Amino acid sequence: MTKIAIAGSGAMGSRFGYMLQATGNSVVLLDNWAAHVQAINTNGLTVNIAGQAPLQVQIPAALPTDIKEIQDVIILFTKSMQLTNMLQTIQPLIGPKTKVVCLLNGLGHPETIERYLPKTNIFVGITLWTAGLTGPGEITLSGSGSVELQNVAPDSQNAAKALVELLSAAGLKAHYSTDVLFSIWRKACVNGTLNSLCALLDCNIAQLGQTSQATTLLTAIVAEFSAVAATEGVDLQPAEMLAHIMPLFNPEEAGDHYPSMHQDLIQHHRPTEIDYLNGYVARKGTERGIATPVNQLITELVHTKEALLIEK
Ligand code: NAD
Repeated sequence: MTKIAIAGSGAMGSRFGYMLQATGNSVVLLDNWAAHVQAINTNGLTVNIAGQAPLQVQIPAALPTDIKEIQDVIILFTKSMQLTNMLQTIQPLIGPKTKVVCLLNGLGHPETIERYLPKTNIFVGITLWTAGLTGPGEITLSGSGSVELQNVAPDSQNAAKALVELLSAAGLKAHYSTDVLFSIWRKACVNGTLNSLCALLDCNIAQLGQTSQATTLLTAIVAEFSAVAATEGVDLQPAEMLAHIMPLFNPEEAGDHYPSMHQDLIQHHRPTEIDYLNGYVARKGTERGIATPVNQLITELVHTKEALLIEK
Protein backbone atom coordinates (compact mmCIF):
# COMPACT_ATOMS: atom_id res chain seq x y z
CA MET A 1 0.00 0.00 0.00
CA THR A 2 1.56 3.27 -1.13
CA LYS A 3 1.26 6.22 1.22
CA ILE A 4 0.21 9.18 -0.93
CA ALA A 5 -0.44 12.80 0.00
CA ILE A 6 -2.18 15.07 -2.49
CA ALA A 7 -0.75 18.53 -1.89
CA GLY A 8 -3.47 20.84 -3.17
CA SER A 9 -6.76 18.97 -3.32
CA GLY A 10 -9.03 21.16 -5.42
CA ALA A 11 -10.71 19.73 -8.50
CA MET A 12 -7.75 17.80 -9.90
CA GLY A 13 -6.14 16.81 -6.60
CA SER A 14 -9.44 15.40 -5.36
CA ARG A 15 -9.93 13.49 -8.64
CA PHE A 16 -6.50 11.90 -8.43
CA GLY A 17 -6.84 11.24 -4.69
CA TYR A 18 -10.24 9.61 -5.12
CA MET A 19 -9.00 7.36 -7.95
CA LEU A 20 -5.77 6.41 -6.16
CA GLN A 21 -7.58 5.53 -2.92
CA ALA A 22 -10.09 3.40 -4.85
CA THR A 23 -7.24 1.08 -5.87
CA GLY A 24 -6.07 0.47 -2.32
CA ASN A 25 -3.53 3.23 -1.67
CA SER A 26 -3.44 5.15 1.59
CA VAL A 27 -4.37 8.68 0.48
CA VAL A 28 -4.68 11.93 2.39
CA LEU A 29 -6.04 15.07 0.73
CA LEU A 30 -4.17 18.17 1.89
CA ASP A 31 -5.67 21.57 1.25
CA ASN A 32 -5.55 25.10 2.64
CA TRP A 33 -9.27 25.76 2.10
CA ALA A 34 -10.51 24.94 5.62
CA ALA A 35 -14.21 24.70 4.64
CA HIS A 36 -13.33 22.17 1.90
CA VAL A 37 -11.28 20.03 4.31
CA GLN A 38 -14.04 20.17 6.91
CA ALA A 39 -16.75 19.23 4.39
CA ILE A 40 -14.72 16.19 3.22
CA ASN A 41 -14.08 15.02 6.78
CA THR A 42 -17.72 15.53 7.80
CA ASN A 43 -19.64 14.23 4.76
CA GLY A 44 -17.01 12.48 2.65
CA LEU A 45 -15.86 13.77 -0.74
CA THR A 46 -18.93 14.16 -2.96
CA VAL A 47 -18.06 12.90 -6.45
CA ASN A 48 -20.53 13.74 -9.22
CA ILE A 49 -20.14 11.69 -12.38
CA ALA A 50 -22.58 12.35 -15.23
CA GLY A 51 -25.39 9.81 -15.37
CA GLN A 52 -24.63 8.38 -11.90
CA ALA A 53 -25.95 9.10 -8.41
CA PRO A 54 -23.44 11.25 -6.45
CA LEU A 55 -20.89 9.21 -4.50
CA GLN A 56 -19.92 10.08 -0.90
CA VAL A 57 -16.33 8.87 -0.65
CA GLN A 58 -14.75 8.58 2.79
CA ILE A 59 -11.22 9.90 2.35
CA PRO A 60 -9.10 11.66 4.97
CA ALA A 61 -8.47 15.37 4.44
CA ALA A 62 -6.32 17.79 6.43
CA LEU A 63 -4.75 21.22 6.39
CA PRO A 64 -1.15 20.87 5.10
CA THR A 65 0.17 22.12 8.46
CA ASP A 66 -1.63 19.32 10.34
CA ILE A 67 0.17 16.32 8.80
CA LYS A 68 3.82 15.54 9.61
CA GLU A 69 4.28 11.91 8.48
CA ILE A 70 6.77 11.18 5.72
CA GLN A 71 5.00 10.04 2.52
CA ASP A 72 6.02 7.59 -0.22
CA VAL A 73 4.55 9.82 -2.92
CA ILE A 74 3.35 13.42 -2.94
CA ILE A 75 1.28 14.64 -5.88
CA LEU A 76 1.30 18.41 -6.20
CA PHE A 77 -1.98 19.88 -7.47
CA THR A 78 -2.11 23.47 -6.29
CA LYS A 79 -2.62 26.31 -8.73
CA SER A 80 0.81 27.52 -9.95
CA MET A 81 0.86 30.61 -7.74
CA GLN A 82 0.22 28.45 -4.61
CA LEU A 83 3.06 26.00 -5.31
CA THR A 84 5.92 27.65 -3.40
CA ASN A 85 3.83 28.11 -0.28
CA MET A 86 2.66 24.47 -0.44
CA LEU A 87 6.23 23.17 -0.86
CA GLN A 88 7.35 25.16 2.16
CA THR A 89 4.47 23.85 4.28
CA ILE A 90 4.89 20.16 3.41
CA GLN A 91 8.62 19.95 4.20
CA PRO A 92 8.02 17.54 7.14
CA LEU A 93 6.26 15.09 4.76
CA ILE A 94 9.27 14.83 2.43
CA GLY A 95 11.79 12.14 3.37
CA PRO A 96 14.91 11.04 1.47
CA LYS A 97 12.85 8.52 -0.57
CA THR A 98 9.67 10.57 -1.09
CA LYS A 99 8.81 10.93 -4.78
CA VAL A 100 7.18 14.23 -5.70
CA VAL A 101 5.03 14.46 -8.82
CA CYS A 102 4.00 17.74 -10.46
CA LEU A 103 1.24 17.78 -13.10
CA LEU A 104 0.31 21.46 -12.80
CA ASN A 105 -0.23 23.48 -15.95
CA GLY A 106 2.37 26.14 -16.60
CA LEU A 107 6.10 26.67 -17.01
CA GLY A 108 9.00 26.85 -14.56
CA HIS A 109 7.70 24.43 -11.92
CA PRO A 110 10.69 22.02 -11.94
CA GLU A 111 13.02 24.91 -10.97
CA THR A 112 10.69 25.85 -8.12
CA ILE A 113 10.48 22.27 -6.81
CA GLU A 114 14.26 21.79 -7.05
CA ARG A 115 14.64 24.37 -4.29
CA TYR A 116 12.93 21.96 -1.86
CA LEU A 117 14.17 18.45 -2.71
CA PRO A 118 16.80 16.63 -4.76
CA LYS A 119 16.21 16.31 -8.51
CA THR A 120 16.33 12.52 -8.21
CA ASN A 121 12.96 12.57 -6.45
CA ILE A 122 11.17 15.01 -8.79
CA PHE A 123 8.85 13.85 -11.59
CA VAL A 124 7.01 16.22 -13.89
CA GLY A 125 4.38 15.92 -16.56
CA ILE A 126 1.04 16.91 -17.94
CA THR A 127 -2.45 15.53 -17.67
CA LEU A 128 -5.40 15.67 -20.02
CA TRP A 129 -7.83 14.65 -17.27
CA THR A 130 -10.22 17.40 -16.22
CA ALA A 131 -12.29 18.07 -13.10
CA GLY A 132 -14.42 20.80 -11.57
CA LEU A 133 -14.67 21.89 -7.93
CA THR A 134 -18.40 22.42 -7.52
CA GLY A 135 -18.25 23.59 -3.91
CA PRO A 136 -16.52 22.72 -0.63
CA GLY A 137 -16.08 18.95 -0.53
CA GLU A 138 -17.64 18.39 -3.97
CA ILE A 139 -16.14 17.62 -7.38
CA THR A 140 -17.67 16.98 -10.79
CA LEU A 141 -15.94 14.59 -13.17
CA SER A 142 -16.57 13.96 -16.82
CA GLY A 143 -14.71 12.59 -19.82
CA SER A 144 -11.50 10.61 -19.97
CA GLY A 145 -7.86 11.67 -19.91
CA SER A 146 -4.27 10.58 -19.61
CA VAL A 147 -1.00 11.45 -17.91
CA GLU A 148 2.49 11.88 -19.36
CA LEU A 149 5.30 11.69 -16.84
CA GLN A 150 9.09 11.81 -16.81
CA ASN A 151 11.94 11.97 -14.29
CA VAL A 152 13.87 15.23 -13.94
CA ALA A 153 17.15 13.44 -13.08
CA PRO A 154 18.36 11.03 -15.81
CA ASP A 155 19.03 8.22 -13.32
CA SER A 156 15.46 8.20 -11.98
CA GLN A 157 13.86 6.55 -14.99
CA ASN A 158 12.88 3.37 -13.12
CA ALA A 159 11.22 5.38 -10.37
CA ALA A 160 9.28 7.34 -13.02
CA LYS A 161 8.11 4.08 -14.58
CA ALA A 162 6.97 2.81 -11.17
CA LEU A 163 4.94 6.01 -10.72
CA VAL A 164 3.42 5.52 -14.18
CA GLU A 165 2.33 2.04 -13.05
CA LEU A 166 0.89 3.39 -9.80
CA LEU A 167 -1.20 5.97 -11.69
CA SER A 168 -2.26 3.55 -14.41
CA ALA A 169 -3.36 0.96 -11.84
CA ALA A 170 -5.74 3.66 -10.58
CA GLY A 171 -7.21 4.08 -14.09
CA LEU A 172 -5.36 7.34 -14.74
CA LYS A 173 -3.89 6.09 -18.05
CA ALA A 174 -0.33 7.22 -17.46
CA HIS A 175 2.51 6.91 -19.97
CA TYR A 176 6.25 7.33 -19.59
CA SER A 177 7.40 10.27 -21.70
CA THR A 178 10.85 10.58 -23.23
CA ASP A 179 10.45 14.34 -23.82
CA VAL A 180 8.05 15.69 -21.26
CA LEU A 181 9.46 19.23 -21.44
CA PHE A 182 8.18 19.44 -25.02
CA SER A 183 4.71 18.30 -23.89
CA ILE A 184 4.73 20.81 -21.02
CA TRP A 185 5.65 23.67 -23.39
CA ARG A 186 3.10 22.54 -25.98
CA LYS A 187 0.29 22.46 -23.41
CA ALA A 188 1.41 25.82 -21.98
CA CYS A 189 1.28 27.27 -25.50
CA VAL A 190 -2.29 26.05 -25.97
CA ASN A 191 -3.22 27.60 -22.63
CA GLY A 192 -1.21 30.77 -23.39
CA THR A 193 -3.25 31.33 -26.54
CA LEU A 194 -6.77 30.01 -25.92
CA ASN A 195 -7.06 30.48 -22.15
CA SER A 196 -5.56 33.95 -22.06
CA LEU A 197 -7.46 35.29 -25.09
CA CYS A 198 -10.82 33.78 -24.10
CA ALA A 199 -10.44 35.21 -20.58
CA LEU A 200 -9.50 38.66 -21.87
CA LEU A 201 -12.13 38.73 -24.59
CA ASP A 202 -14.84 36.99 -22.53
CA CYS A 203 -15.65 34.38 -25.15
CA ASN A 204 -15.47 30.64 -25.67
CA ILE A 205 -12.99 28.91 -27.98
CA ALA A 206 -15.36 28.64 -30.98
CA GLN A 207 -16.29 32.34 -30.70
CA LEU A 208 -12.60 33.30 -30.65
CA GLY A 209 -12.01 31.13 -33.72
CA GLN A 210 -14.78 32.88 -35.63
CA THR A 211 -13.07 36.29 -35.39
CA SER A 212 -10.92 37.41 -38.32
CA GLN A 213 -8.23 38.47 -35.82
CA ALA A 214 -7.75 35.03 -34.21
CA THR A 215 -5.05 33.79 -36.59
CA THR A 216 -3.00 37.00 -36.27
CA LEU A 217 -3.19 36.92 -32.48
CA LEU A 218 -2.29 33.24 -32.23
CA THR A 219 0.57 33.58 -34.68
CA ALA A 220 2.14 36.42 -32.67
CA ILE A 221 1.80 34.64 -29.31
CA VAL A 222 3.07 31.30 -30.63
CA ALA A 223 6.13 32.88 -32.32
CA GLU A 224 7.30 34.26 -28.95
CA PHE A 225 6.59 30.97 -27.13
CA SER A 226 8.65 29.19 -29.78
CA ALA A 227 11.61 31.60 -29.49
CA VAL A 228 11.77 31.29 -25.70
CA ALA A 229 11.22 27.50 -25.76
CA ALA A 230 14.28 27.23 -28.02
CA THR A 231 16.43 28.83 -25.26
CA GLU A 232 15.47 25.83 -23.08
CA GLY A 233 16.27 23.29 -25.79
CA VAL A 234 12.61 22.76 -26.71
CA ASP A 235 11.76 22.67 -30.40
CA LEU A 236 8.28 24.21 -30.54
CA GLN A 237 7.73 24.76 -34.25
CA PRO A 238 5.24 27.65 -34.81
CA ALA A 239 3.55 26.02 -37.83
CA GLU A 240 3.10 22.69 -36.02
CA MET A 241 1.83 24.50 -32.92
CA LEU A 242 -0.75 26.48 -34.91
CA ALA A 243 -1.84 23.30 -36.72
CA HIS A 244 -2.35 21.75 -33.27
CA ILE A 245 -4.38 24.68 -31.87
CA MET A 246 -6.57 25.70 -34.84
CA PRO A 247 -8.69 22.49 -34.93
CA LEU A 248 -9.75 23.23 -31.34
CA PHE A 249 -11.89 26.09 -32.75
CA ASN A 250 -14.17 23.42 -34.21
CA PRO A 251 -17.23 23.17 -31.92
CA GLU A 252 -16.89 19.38 -32.03
CA GLU A 253 -13.39 19.61 -30.54
CA ALA A 254 -13.05 22.09 -27.65
CA GLY A 255 -15.09 24.79 -29.45
CA ASP A 256 -17.96 25.74 -27.14
CA HIS A 257 -15.83 25.26 -24.03
CA TYR A 258 -14.87 28.21 -21.84
CA PRO A 259 -11.23 27.56 -20.82
CA SER A 260 -10.29 27.35 -17.15
CA MET A 261 -8.80 30.86 -17.08
CA HIS A 262 -12.16 32.22 -18.23
CA GLN A 263 -13.88 30.21 -15.51
CA ASP A 264 -11.42 31.37 -12.84
CA LEU A 265 -11.22 35.05 -13.78
CA ILE A 266 -14.45 36.02 -15.51
CA GLN A 267 -16.88 33.62 -13.86
CA HIS A 268 -15.43 33.27 -10.35
CA HIS A 269 -13.20 36.36 -10.02
CA ARG A 270 -10.21 34.27 -8.92
CA PRO A 271 -6.49 34.87 -9.68
CA THR A 272 -5.10 33.24 -12.83
CA GLU A 273 -1.95 31.25 -13.68
CA ILE A 274 -0.94 33.91 -16.26
CA ASP A 275 2.53 34.45 -14.70
CA TYR A 276 3.35 30.78 -15.45
CA LEU A 277 2.09 30.92 -19.07
CA ASN A 278 2.43 34.16 -21.10
CA GLY A 279 4.08 35.82 -18.10
CA TYR A 280 6.84 33.18 -18.00
CA VAL A 281 7.55 33.70 -21.72
CA ALA A 282 7.65 37.48 -21.26
CA ARG A 283 9.93 37.25 -18.19
CA LYS A 284 12.37 34.70 -19.62
CA GLY A 285 12.37 36.47 -23.00
CA THR A 286 13.38 39.71 -21.32
CA GLU A 287 16.09 37.95 -19.26
CA ARG A 288 17.48 36.22 -22.39
CA GLY A 289 17.31 39.16 -24.82
CA ILE A 290 14.32 37.90 -26.83
CA ALA A 291 11.57 40.38 -27.67
CA THR A 292 8.25 39.20 -26.22
CA PRO A 293 6.02 42.31 -26.41
CA VAL A 294 2.82 40.42 -27.20
CA ASN A 295 3.08 38.06 -24.22
CA GLN A 296 4.12 41.00 -22.03
CA LEU A 297 1.00 42.93 -23.02
CA ILE A 298 -1.29 39.93 -22.56
CA THR A 299 0.16 39.33 -19.09
CA GLU A 300 -0.39 42.99 -18.13
CA LEU A 301 -3.94 42.95 -19.50
CA VAL A 302 -4.83 39.80 -17.54
CA HIS A 303 -3.36 41.32 -14.36
CA THR A 304 -5.38 44.48 -15.03
CA LYS A 305 -8.53 42.40 -15.35
CA GLU A 306 -7.63 40.62 -12.07
CA ALA A 307 -7.25 44.03 -10.39
CA LEU A 308 -10.64 45.11 -11.71
CA LEU A 309 -12.54 41.93 -10.82
CA ILE A 310 -10.98 40.41 -7.73
CA GLU A 311 -12.05 41.86 -4.41
CA LYS A 312 -9.12 42.68 -2.15
P1 NAD B 1 -8.63 24.30 -8.16
O1 NAD B 1 -8.92 25.75 -8.37
O2 NAD B 1 -9.79 23.36 -8.18
O3 NAD B 1 -7.89 24.11 -6.77
C1 NAD B 1 -6.65 24.73 -6.53
C2 NAD B 1 -6.63 25.19 -5.09
O4 NAD B 1 -7.52 26.31 -4.94
C3 NAD B 1 -7.08 24.14 -4.09
O5 NAD B 1 -6.27 24.23 -2.95
C4 NAD B 1 -8.51 24.57 -3.79
O6 NAD B 1 -8.99 24.15 -2.54
C5 NAD B 1 -8.38 26.08 -3.84
N1 NAD B 1 -9.70 26.66 -4.07
C6 NAD B 1 -10.51 26.48 -5.13
N2 NAD B 1 -11.66 27.16 -4.97
C7 NAD B 1 -11.57 27.81 -3.80
C8 NAD B 1 -12.43 28.69 -3.08
N3 NAD B 1 -13.63 29.03 -3.56
N4 NAD B 1 -12.01 29.16 -1.88
C9 NAD B 1 -10.80 28.82 -1.39
N5 NAD B 1 -9.91 28.00 -2.03
C10 NAD B 1 -10.31 27.50 -3.21
O7 NAD B 1 -7.49 23.89 -9.20
P2 NAD B 1 -7.44 22.67 -10.22
O8 NAD B 1 -8.44 22.93 -11.29
O9 NAD B 1 -7.50 21.40 -9.46
O10 NAD B 1 -6.00 22.89 -10.88
C11 NAD B 1 -4.79 22.44 -10.27
C12 NAD B 1 -3.70 22.45 -11.34
O11 NAD B 1 -4.05 21.51 -12.37
C13 NAD B 1 -3.55 23.79 -12.07
O12 NAD B 1 -2.22 23.99 -12.44
C14 NAD B 1 -4.41 23.62 -13.32
O13 NAD B 1 -4.03 24.49 -14.37
C15 NAD B 1 -4.11 22.16 -13.63
N6 NAD B 1 -5.13 21.46 -14.42
C16 NAD B 1 -6.44 21.60 -14.15
C17 NAD B 1 -7.39 20.88 -14.91
C18 NAD B 1 -8.87 20.94 -14.60
O14 NAD B 1 -9.67 20.41 -15.38
N7 NAD B 1 -9.31 21.51 -13.49
C19 NAD B 1 -6.94 20.06 -15.95
C20 NAD B 1 -5.57 19.92 -16.19
C21 NAD B 1 -4.66 20.64 -15.42
